[in-house]
Amino acid sequence: LPKEGSSLTCQLYSADMTRQLERRSQLLQQLRLAIQQQALHLVYQPKVDLQTGQLLGAEALMRWQNPLLGAISPLEFIPLAETTGLILPMGEWLLDESMQQLSQWRTQGIIDDSFVLAINLSGSQLMQEGFAEQLLSRCLHWSIPPQVIQVEITESTLMIDIHKAIDQLNRLSEVGISAAIDDFGTGYSSLAYLRQLPVQVLKIDRSFVTGIENNVEDRRLAETITTLAHNLGCQVVAEGVETESQARLLLHLKCEQGQGYYFSRPLSVVDFEHYTRTHTCSAADHL
Ligand code: C2E
Ligand code: MG
Ligand code: MG
Ligand code: MG
Repeated sequence: LPKEGSSLTCQLYSADMTRQLERRSQLLQQLRLAIQQQALHLVYQPKVDLQTGQLLGAEALMRWQNPLLGAISPLEFIPLAETTGLILPMGEWLLDESMQQLSQWRTQGIIDDSFVLAINLSGSQLMQEGFAEQLLSRCLHWSIPPQVIQVEITESTLMIDIHKAIDQLNRLSEVGISAAIDDFGTGYSSLAYLRQLPVQVLKIDRSFVTGIENNVEDRRLAETITTLAHNLGCQVVAEGVETESQARLLLHLKCEQGQGYYFSRPLSVVDFEHYTRTHTCSAADHL
């Protein structure tokens, strides 16, 4: 019996592995096609001032709708792109696409100089030789002040090669581009290094925000992260804010900015333009 049992387990296991490998190779093939055919697109999620509700910027997020496989989450295709090197051409495309869009919105007066566009960077992009200079020349090309571009890098990515990361972030900072540490609280930052990192923003991970009302530990963590950020001279953005009471609590903890479904889902270009029309001068609305 144990023999049979274990061989069954073995068969199930290998069937499962086969399925996973098939899915992976299909995804990879389709992703290559999608890049060639420029079939990826971007959505933009507003970031708002928690005090006033005013729109401060947006995060560009990649989307992939595949005719064969349906909508595929970035949580699935970004890691695949990272391990296969496809993230580099995808990153180039993202920069072209988002900066062209930003430039258009600026020209159209839909947003002004205070609007900051955040872009997610993978480790291999950040570590590219001459990345800061490349980004700066793109800014010049689109007449975008580097000050309105912010890169988001996850805490765990930064810690892979912290010395190189510090160098690259210093370069970005020298050309005027700011940086945020994404998903903060989920990695293992060394406090000593955190002090040396030229970052302007810490983003509290959604997992802490979710528990902020009902879980004392999550609330204390959110509070600790906020205090830490302020002591480092950084601003705090809370991600994944889904309810008004979470927003209130975060404001009470002195967190400056919020991002999440409570304010807005990530929006298509058309919906984002509509959002800016209906959310102008929120500061005055709140008074
Ligand atoms: P992230 O940078 O932490 O992005 C925030 C994620 O949380 C997004 O998921 C967003 O849709 C989701 N989100 C925002 N507000 C809420 C909320 O109130 N509730 C919930 N439940 N979720 C919320 P998304 O778009 O699926 O992206 C997942 C991750 O994939 C991103 O996490 C980022 O690490 C990565 N990613 C997405 N686009 C890109 C990209 O263009 N380049 C790179 N390198 N990574 C990307
Ligand atoms: Mg992000
Ligand atoms: Mg995040
Ligand atoms: Mg996150």
